[in-house]
Amino acid sequence: MRHSRLCLAIVMLALVLLAMPEHVAYGHSPSMVLGGYFTVEETELLLRDMAARYPHLATLVDFGDSWERGEPDGAPGYDLLALRITSRRHPGPKPVFTLVAAIHANELAGPEVATRFASMLLAGYGVDPTLTWLLDGHEVVVVPIFNPDGRALAQPTRKSTSAWPDTTCRGVDLNRNFPYEWGAAAASPYPCSDTYLGPTPASEPETRAMMALLENLYATRATPPAGQPFPDETSGVLVSLHTYGDLVLWPWAHTSALAPNAPGLERLGRSIAARNGYSPKSAFALYPHAGRLDDWAYATLGVAAFTIEIGSVYPCSGHSAPFTCIDDLFWPQNRGALVYAALVASTPYTLAFGPTFDAASVTGDTANVTVSARASAVAGGVAAAELYIGEGPPYASTPLAMVAADGAFGGAVEEVRVTVPRELLAGDVRPLLIMRASSTTGAWGPFEARWAPAPDAPGPAYRLVLPLLAR
Ligand SMILES: [Zn+2]
Repeated sequence: MRHSRLCLAIVMLALVLLAMPEHVAYGHSPSMVLGGYFTVEETELLLRDMAARYPHLATLVDFGDSWERGEPDGAPGYDLLALRITSRRHPGPKPVFTLVAAIHANELAGPEVATRFASMLLAGYGVDPTLTWLLDGHEVVVVPIFNPDGRALAQPTRKSTSAWPDTTCRGVDLNRNFPYEWGAAAASPYPCSDTYLGPTPASEPETRAMMALLENLYATRATPPAGQPFPDETSGVLVSLHTYGDLVLWPWAHTSALAPNAPGLERLGRSIAARNGYSPKSAFALYPHAGRLDDWAYATLGVAAFTIEIGSVYPCSGHSAPFTCIDDLFWPQNRGALVYAALVASTPYTLAFGPTFDAASVTGDTANVTVSARASAVAGGVAAAELYIGEGPPYASTPLAMVAADGAFGGAVEEVRVTVPRELLAGDVRPLLIMRASSTTGAWGPFEARWAPAPDAPGPAYRLVLPLLAR
């Protein structure tokens, strides 16, 4: 029975995908099975389809098995899947941004936001200049469903589905099972509890698989002595998507003591929250708990790790908000926040203190191209701005200095610009113009990119045709 339903669902999804133009399919038309939300099988099919359509950008990685898959008498279970997304322009290794969803299986919105993020990056490469630089200079890893066993139940549970002796209660709260400070704060020792932490740290195959994946992605770094921060040059950002509460949470969760990198974690958390409009706070300030993915990733690997709790306003609140909330609210809210979190992955603890651009434009004639932008400081004033042609660091050559339009840097907001002779743009069909600004506190901010206009664009043909089309 279960298999026939599964086959029917896959056939229906395949028909939907085949019947639609590509961009509509990647708008993730609602599933006909779960009130719009994709099933585990449909999500897996979508990931395989993305990898097949964008082989130059995406690789599907099977990083482990769910509990059921490893259990001889269990359900068929699932492969644990991650989509690794980066351009082949540079071989890497590159700074990594990881997006994880559905560690709590019944929190329905996360996987939908995560797959939209992956789709946006794949469709945006070569089209959107900043997303193009993001994938040239970084790697993005998306795990839409970390807990597929729990997700696959007719009534999804928060927990996984592993079985325990002497009880019919099933599963572990995987976000209480990670081995950093396991059991140090509110997590239940009872298998029937929704927050059961498991019999031992990292007892669950899903937990161990995620640890191995992240250790592989964020390798080659030393853990500092207890209480000491990871150095400023530490790379890596991780976001774990949950519902609900409209919150952005940073480590720690088990203690009110500040994490060693608290200034950077808090600054970045506040910058993410400024973009999705959520409330920023430490995870402990929400309530004490321990054994979280985020705390382990930060404590062990130095990754700047955050939980985003999506949704809070009726009807888009709770763990199973109406599916229309995804495209009407959750995805538009979080798109810019996730792009920003990915753009600071090279050095999150310093980039979060640097200025960002809230406007940028490029004009050109046959001799020159002029880049104009508005930089806004997060702290202090804007001290300088510079432009790289074609590539950002570490691949780029020397940047061009941008000047303050008012003649002097130092303001909280500065209009900046630079004029680039056309000959500097030769050698690339459509070079990227990649800018960044620094603050008076000494921090550079994340990059923003624009395309250099072609020498003849916008040509007379556009001006002639567009009014006709507008009728
Ligand atoms: Zn959760």
